Amino acid sequence: MKAVRIHEFGGPEVLRYEDVADPQCRKDQVLVRVKACAMNHLDIWVRKGLPGVKLPHILGSDIAGEIVEVGEYVSGFKVGQRVLLAPMHFCNHCAKCTAGLQNQCREYTVVGNLVDGGNCELIAAPAVRVIPIPDALDFNQAASVPLVFLTAWHMLVGRAGIHPGQTVLVLGANSGVGIAGIQLAKFFNCRVITTAGDDRKMAKAHELGADHVINHYKQKISEEVRSITNKEGVDIVLEHVGPATWEESLKSLKLGGALVTCGATTGPHVGIDLRFVYSRQLSVLGSYMGTMGELHEALKHVFSGTLKPVVDRTFPLAEARQAHEYMEKSQMFGKIVLNP
Ligand SMILES: [Zn+2]
Repeated sequence: MKAVRIHEFGGPEVLRYEDVADPQCRKDQVLVRVKACAMNHLDIWVRKGLPGVKLPHILGSDIAGEIVEVGEYVSGFKVGQRVLLAPMHFCNHCAKCTAGLQNQCREYTVVGNLVDGGNCELIAAPAVRVIPIPDALDFNQAASVPLVFLTAWHMLVGRAGIHPGQTVLVLGANSGVGIAGIQLAKFFNCRVITTAGDDRKMAKAHELGADHVINHYKQKISEEVRSITNKEGVDIVLEHVGPATWEESLKSLKLGGALVTCGATTGPHVGIDLRFVYSRQLSVLGSYMGTMGELHEALKHVFSGTLKPVVDRTFPLAEARQAHEYMEKSQMFGKIVLNP
């Protein structure tokens, strides 16, 4: 099959479109022909080099496609079925996995990070990770869902305990997690404040349901939040940006508020004034992907049409390099999808 692999870490030029051996479908697996694989910032981190990544390596976490083979031990699936794959690898037999806490499994990793991903034509996966998709969802839309909607669900529901009537600040309306977070917070009947970098993105954020959109280049986030919330601040901040917004995020919280973070797009290190955290009784919560149960729950609302994936642009898999260059310019609003 064709695949995009990296043989070394570096810029977009290390992506190689090449022939690799077809994967073997184990008896407990399903073999899927990849129709769409959505990109995430993780692809760029892995391409640049993350610890534990073995080379050569196939990138890509979010996969949708068609079943071409069903292993002997697998029931309930048939050839030709349209599916998406849960973007996570876990052992499925440890105490955490069997308790439904897959993202605390010691083997847990994101597909395309420590295990090969979906920037290829065929991929084998255990049945537990294979989820049928409705006809109304095309492959590009389906591939745009799993990682970001799961991440946002675990952040807001699993970690921050969102409930109706709260005010939520979602950073980066144009990012995948931002798009999912805005919709999810509105789904829980919360007031949503978000940030975007230009008029086009701000308009799109409003279309997604955001009540207030702050231009983070022209306005100071915490000051705007104070004026929008009558000096109170927000209940929850959904963070994934890191140092560039961290201080503004903390300052935007109300007394007893919670900052939940899943990423570090602008870097890994931030400062915390402990006096500020304890005196205002703030919670700083880490969040990593989510569980299979949460994925199924989030997908239910995507499949019903309530939560909507946003596809920005598609590229043929052979043009993965251009897709990476496009992502690094940060001009997208929504997902970039590769089509093998
Ligand atoms: Zn496990």
